Amino acid sequence: MSTNVVDVTKKFGDFQALYDINLAIEDGEFIAILGPSGCGKTTLLRMLAGFESPTSGTIEINNTAVADASFSVPPEKRDVSMVFQGFALWPHMTVADHIKFPLRYDQFAAYELKQNMSQRVGDVLEIINLQDKGEAYPHELSGGQKQRVSLGRAIATEPQLLLMDEPLSALDAELRIEMRREIQRLHQITGATIVYVTHDQGEALAMADRIVVMNKGRIEQVGTPEDIFYRPETEFVATFVSKANIFRGWWEGDAFHVADSSVVLANVGTTDALKASGIYALRPDQIELTDVALNDLTAEVLTRQFQGKEYHYSLNLNGQTILVQRPFTDVYEVGERVGLRAVAG
Ligand code: ADP
Ligand code: MG
Repeated sequence: MSTNVVDVTKKFGDFQALYDINLAIEDGEFIAILGPSGCGKTTLLRMLAGFESPTSGTIEINNTAVADASFSVPPEKRDVSMVFQGFALWPHMTVADHIKFPLRYDQFAAYELKQNMSQRVGDVLEIINLQDKGEAYPHELSGGQKQRVSLGRAIATEPQLLLMDEPLSALDAELRIEMRREIQRLHQITGATIVYVTHDQGEALAMADRIVVMNKGRIEQVGTPEDIFYRPETEFVATFVSKANIFRGWWEGDAFHVADSSVVLANVGTTDALKASGIYALRPDQIELTDVALNDLTAEVLTRQFQGKEYHYSLNLNGQTILVQRPFTDVYEVGERVGLRAVAG
């Protein structure tokens, strides 16, 4: 069983929000859809939920077509739950009421769950760690607790497909990191397929089995977090996910000739796809700083930041700002000229 997006495009009037989207999601997978604001993540998620239909192409859930250009199964008739960007809680309803709501009204709630509703509410409260908050109202809860209620409501009916649209964006930085673990645990306990939309690289890399990187309505790359981080196939993925520095020039085998110079850099793990685009992408940890005399590619130190085990440098390379991370033993001063060399990160 799998969920498939096949040749999907989406237009809003003259504006095309999605182009040629193809994606096969395996049962039980945790998929992150990662990309900057406006790239089409929410539109794609809303199509899986049934709030939007494709302009062309097909959406399949459990190998059954649920939408194409001519028909769309409405959201309540899909075995799908969505967690929205805000918490979307009802102020006059208790935590337990929020969990009961889909059990009462969702057609996909199994008969056993409906019959044993108070048992199911208790189980869900335990999963979301709010055992003693069943009778509390939203205004009595912290941000993290509200977020757990909205997760609990989404999993109450044991949906096969759980859609989350930037569910942590309303929380402060520390709580966001903590909630990553809760969502991972939720995935382990429920076994549900999760499609998780985020613009936060750290969230996607930390939680997902596979990441779909989107840019301007298109999929740039699909892969494991390790693939996406270490083996980017496009300039966009290299800069957006790995914060890589981009050098212009041309490849000759494993030698990269830097444009407008006689400098040649050694290859430290560039994919063929990225080579074909004629750039060299080096993450901040893939650049070594050396004495000027040892190197033809030289730059001036602009800033240095102490980060515990590392220093983070910014350098001026002929007008281009280069970011470099070095171990705390590599100390260079602001204003100093240093050589740059590619090293395996
Ligand atoms: P993201 O979630 O990645 O920030 P969205 O999917 O919300 O992006 O939006 C993608 C693009 O489609 C944006 O340019 C947005 O303005 C546009 N868009 C989304 N929904 C509509 C709509 N209902 N009508 C017109 N344009 C829309
Ligand atoms: Mg969005």
